[in-house]
Amino acid sequence: IKVQEYRPQSFIDFTKEENVKAYQDALKKVRAELVGKHYPLVIDGERVDTAEKLESINPCDISEVVGTTAKATVEDAERALQGAWTAFETWKKWDMDARARILLKAAAILKRRRLEACALMTIEVGKNYAEADVEVAEAIDFLEYYARSAMRYSGFGSAETTWFEGEENGLMHIPLGVGVSISPWNFPCAIFIGMAAAPIVAGNCVLVKPAEDAGLIAGFMVDIMLEAGLPAGVLQFLPGVGKEIGEYLTNHAKTRFITFTGSRAVGLHINEVAAKVQPGQKWIKRVVMELGGKDALIVDEGADIETAVTAAVQGAFGFNGQKCSAMSRLILVDSVYDEVMSGFVERTKALKMGCGEENAPVTAVVNQMSFDKIKGYLDSAGDEGTVLLGGEAPGECGGKKGHYVQPSIIGDVKRESKLAQEEIFGPVVAVIRARDWQDALEIANSTEYGLTGGVISNSREHLEQARAEFEVGNLYFNRKITGAIVGVQPFGGYNMSGTDSKAGGPDYLANFMQLKTVTERW
Ligand code: GLU
Repeated sequence: IKVQEYRPQSFIDFTKEENVKAYQDALKKVRAELVGKHYPLVIDGERVDTAEKLESINPCDISEVVGTTAKATVEDAERALQGAWTAFETWKKWDMDARARILLKAAAILKRRRLEACALMTIEVGKNYAEADVEVAEAIDFLEYYARSAMRYSGFGSAETTWFEGEENGLMHIPLGVGVSISPWNFPCAIFIGMAAAPIVAGNCVLVKPAEDAGLIAGFMVDIMLEAGLPAGVLQFLPGVGKEIGEYLTNHAKTRFITFTGSRAVGLHINEVAAKVQPGQKWIKRVVMELGGKDALIVDEGADIETAVTAAVQGAFGFNGQKCSAMSRLILVDSVYDEVMSGFVERTKALKMGCGEENAPVTAVVNQMSFDKIKGYLDSAGDEGTVLLGGEAPGECGGKKGHYVQPSIIGDVKRESKLAQEEIFGPVVAVIRARDWQDALEIANSTEYGLTGGVISNSREHLEQARAEFEVGNLYFNRKITGAIVGVQPFGGYNMSGTDSKAGGPDYLANFMQLKTVTERW
């Protein structure tokens, strides 16, 4: 197989009028062709419909049902699991290169349909143009990157061993079997496809359960994978309810691995259920998890204020803070507190709230549950700090009812308070005052999470200390703390933020393979 070296996709420049126009055309096309569509399950290559349906609601205008998917039952899940094991018998024997070609072709199709995928997410989850574009670029990158990663694991001797006289020794990477992928609504295209394509290209078969709020973009991506030539049974599409089929499959003796991206609470539950050995179970289930964060950006005394303000605004409010990487704590040393705060509040004030289709910088949060949760934190924010901006969740904008929450900045938040410790997953920032740099780093490390973090500083000593001591999986200096690029910034956290599996990293596929050492004495 011949491929050029991996290079991440570049992003579309929406300051150019023609690109905005192309996006609006894509929105029209999606409204004409995809809105209102129904996606059935896909089991063993066949479309299977169910009595019940799941509705996708436009978060920016909750009177609109964007489309529907089937809703898998436990019986459907059982059938999909059995079918996937049958498919595995053949799929595991495919050549790595041949499997990789399917991902490369899927990437090529997605490149052609890039704006359609973007526009669909704008309507289904409320992403503005740039946020949607960055995500579809990431989806293409995952396909391209994992295809190339797979080729490295090909054949006997796929990892280094030491020569030993009189013997041939070598390692083989072999797939695990059939697993379940449970993906989130906040990156329903990129993370959805990354969490499916990686185990698949390594030779596994996967049951994919997309997030309940974003089944359409998942169905769109599954169609692309099938069009690219994925054989029947390798990817079983199972939209459904986590508590029903997710729970059933996590428990199941025939589930070999579970890959999950979502909240800490659900992740820990999956981990516990998966750990219990069921009658007839032959293995210890492998669990790969990407969980929450309470990500902090520190600004020290010598920092460039403009850089700090830009990093804070971008990191906090991109996609309304609905990223596990989002900056939800801003830790300012006392001497720069007032200056950074006034810039941060001023720049955030300029962010207009509106719907994704109008390309508003701040749109609605994904669903009623998120809205209620964020509102709950805002209602008690005054007890834990000083509300300097926002603080309201109006639930409507421009005459449309939607899950609208104002971008909110809470100053002088107490370090142990809920606002400073718990993941809110919305446009709410807790600003914490630190006595000095040392104090700031201690505050940053004072949560149970460890996903992303950042430092805005011109002090080499501070940056080097942070490099060694800031407890996060992704650390950024003098820039925003979101927007990891596949292959460039392998992504994932430790502590309660997950198993540090590093999506888009050189060893990610190893999460879905086991190694066999074979020795032949000559
Ligand atoms: N990879 C994304 C980023 O770097 C975040 C992923 C997530 O929120 O799950 O911003």
